Amino acid sequence: MKPALVLVGRPNVGKSTLFNRLTRSRDAIVADIPGLTRDRHYGQGRLGDKPYLVVDTGGFEPMVTEGILHKMAEQTRQAIDEADMVLFIVDGRTGLTPHDKIIAGQLRKTGRKIILVVNKTEGMTSSAVTAEFHELGLGDPCAISAAHGDNVNDLVELALANF
Ligand code: GDP
Ligand code: MG
Repeated sequence: MKPALVLVGRPNVGKSTLFNRLTRSRDAIVADIPGLTRDRHYGQGRLGDKPYLVVDTGGFEPMVTEGILHKMAEQTRQAIDEADMVLFIVDGRTGLTPHDKIIAGQLRKTGRKIILVVNKTEGMTSSAVTAEFHELGLGDPCAISAAHGDNVNDLVELALANF
């Protein structure tokens, strides 16, 4: 069974950009995985001889327009339930936002394994960028640039280390 990496975060942090970078075949419908539906964004990738699935969630986006800040969209919740690893993406340029904190709190409650990913850090000193995100209580953030590919391989290695 391929481990499922699920991308979670508020709008515009770069989930889809990272999804595209992590996947070779987009929207692959993986028939051998029970319970997967077509209404989420699935792809697959491979690091060396380790294959993995990636799920791009847009589930937090409706919260903004509807103002339901305390509810995770059902689809996102379902994707998180199926996650072997949640990649929680935040934006190193915008910095930590209240919305990030709410999502972090919800993610912690799920008990899933989480990697905190600070995106858009190209050209930035990683220690300075990631310092403020420590307060989320999700451990050491992993600084990447999804757009440029910086550190993305290291992120996948970290995510797959136990699979
Ligand atoms: P999503 O809403 O979380 O799926 O975010 P998107 O992947 O659609 O990206 C939102 C915006 O951030 C787009 O304009 C991307 O080009 C931009 N973006 C994504 N990754 C990076 C990055 O690593 N660096 C910079 N500077 N911009 C990025
Ligand atoms: Mg997106």
